[in-house]
Amino acid sequence: MSITTHCEGKGELPVGKIVAVGRNYADHAAEMGAPRPTEPLLFLKPSTALLQGATVLRLPRFSKEIHHEVELVVRVSKRLSEANVHESSLAIDSVAVGLDLTARDLQAEAKKKGEPWAVSKGFDGAAPLSQLVPVRSADVLSDLEIELSINGLRRQFGRTSAMLWSVPELLSEISHRFTLLPGDLVFTGTPAGVGPLHPGDVVSARLGSLCQLKATVAAAK
Ligand code: ZN
Repeated sequence: MSITTHCEGKGELPVGKIVAVGRNYADHAAEMGAPRPTEPLLFLKPSTALLQGATVLRLPRFSKEIHHEVELVVRVSKRLSEANVHESSLAIDSVAVGLDLTARDLQAEAKKKGEPWAVSKGFDGAAPLSQLVPVRSADVLSDLEIELSINGLRRQFGRTSAMLWSVPELLSEISHRFTLLPGDLVFTGTPAGVGPLHPGDVVSARLGSLCQLKATVAAAK
């Protein structure tokens, strides 16, 4: 059974992979005590992490510290391999707001030991996503507000113009490391303000007035 995403007017595409970008906003790199990167920090989430349109975020058993990271997410619509920025800008069919949920306790341990982030970033449900909204041009993504609130209190806020690499630049960079295929999703990094989720929290995220996600956090089963 393949995992797919649906976008009104653009149809359904299989999710081959989810590529995510770390430290794409300088203020978030700084809050993590990490240097400003000189090239995009890339990692992968499996397609099974995706949770499109979910209204409940169930915390996993194996972590005591799941952090929210609100991100602009694009769906790739064309094969991209060693593509330039212009070609990359024409290979986006839709956008969503997503959460790059992170088991921060496991990730901190992995960083200390030089181990991969696969579990801390890739568990089931680690990639909640709003509905995808069609975009005609990558230009509309260049200066959107991005915000996350918990129980009505704003925790993260930024503008996509503060990204160190713009969306087309990221896709171009990624395509020189991994071929991107139609249906692949790219999580483009989070602004400052990341923090823990607790059972009962109501999480709201939005990308400008284009995309919204609202869900309630549930305790581990
Ligand atoms: Zn992230």
